[in-house]
Amino acid sequence: MWQASISIDLDAIRHNVAQLTAATTAQVMAVVKGDGYGHGAVESARAALDGGASRLGVATIAEALQLRAAGITAPTLAWLVAPGMPRAEALAAGVELSAGSLAELDEVCAAAAVAGRPAGLHLKVDTGLGRGGARVEDWLQLVEASAKAQADGLVEVVGVWSHFVHADQPDHATNARQLTAFAEAVDILAAAGLRPALRHIANSAAALTLPESHFDLVRAGSAVYGLRPMPGRDFGLRPAMTVRARVAFAKKVPAGCGVSYGHTYVTPSPTTLAVIPLGYADGIPRAAGNTPLAWFGSVRRTIAGRVSMDQFVVDCGDDPVVAGDVVTLLGPGDRGEPTADDWATVLGTVSYEIVANFGGRARIRRSYV
Ligand SMILES: *Cc1c(COP(=O)(O)O)cnc(C)c1O
Repeated sequence: MWQASISIDLDAIRHNVAQLTAATTAQVMAVVKGDGYGHGAVESARAALDGGASRLGVATIAEALQLRAAGITAPTLAWLVAPGMPRAEALAAGVELSAGSLAELDEVCAAAAVAGRPAGLHLKVDTGLGRGGARVEDWLQLVEASAKAQADGLVEVVGVWSHFVHADQPDHATNARQLTAFAEAVDILAAAGLRPALRHIANSAAALTLPESHFDLVRAGSAVYGLRPMPGRDFGLRPAMTVRARVAFAKKVPAGCGVSYGHTYVTPSPTTLAVIPLGYADGIPRAAGNTPLAWFGSVRRTIAGRVSMDQFVVDCGDDPVVAGDVVTLLGPGDRGEPTADDWATVLGTVSYEIVANFGGRARIRRSYV
């Protein structure tokens, strides 16, 4: 028995990756960071590999090692690693690392010496995002130091990469500028004798709409899980996550009944209130209070008043709702239930954040179908 459940449709993940592989001649890296965008990293990784992905991408070393511990041996890149984190352990497990500065390169080289094997290294250039990666004016220095480290047997430069600012707007002028900067960075590498087999810059949106950005590899996250990488187009993707909960308690109340902390909701007419045993400690944003995001069978119902840590209340109107009934909070939308996109629109965020909120939640049973 469960009182809150996330079910993940692994067929949808396989299908989505197959859509991606059909959309490009490049390899597909399935990005499973953030507990697989809340879908479960290990299960999502396996399904993505079944669907045709050849590589995996994560942010941290811990995430990469979690995949290895589960027996997943596919080539894996971890790209967001603070100083002093266990890079040697990552290398020993065959995890590839990134460097975007001389300091990061030094960390990788030191780890390679400890691990007793050269690091599979992806050099990161900042073509405009202004986040990680070497600025173009610092690129040559990083490239020369990397060439030397490769000559010394400490690294093998297997990749060169960057990340888009406006991938969700294929016609945005910044995309073309970044592609030019990326091509120049690749040329500088080649001039230093480095010709890594994996040039990559595209995320899901670019994988689906910007073929000139595919190079050797695309890094797809959102599309793997069936999230639409841009509004209004579904690209044949199928959302993989469904979140449901069972009513813990239900009661009839008259009109004028204030509901939950602060009484930000007052029942407009006599109604049935249902208490749902999920709250912000489970990934339901507190901002979802007083929005129509609960779905009972065929109708959207309002989340009445504030979402609290463990629970929220739904105004069920005339529905004969009783304790034990199932409310659907999020799903593929086929039957009218709210989608992650609907949540994102109502709450003024992106669907990525909605699903990622459900990652690693101890109070929700996660099952795979
Ligand atoms: C998360 C992430 C991706 C995947 O982005 P999507 O838009 O979800 O496809 C790709 N590359 C990097 C560096 C990322 O952090």
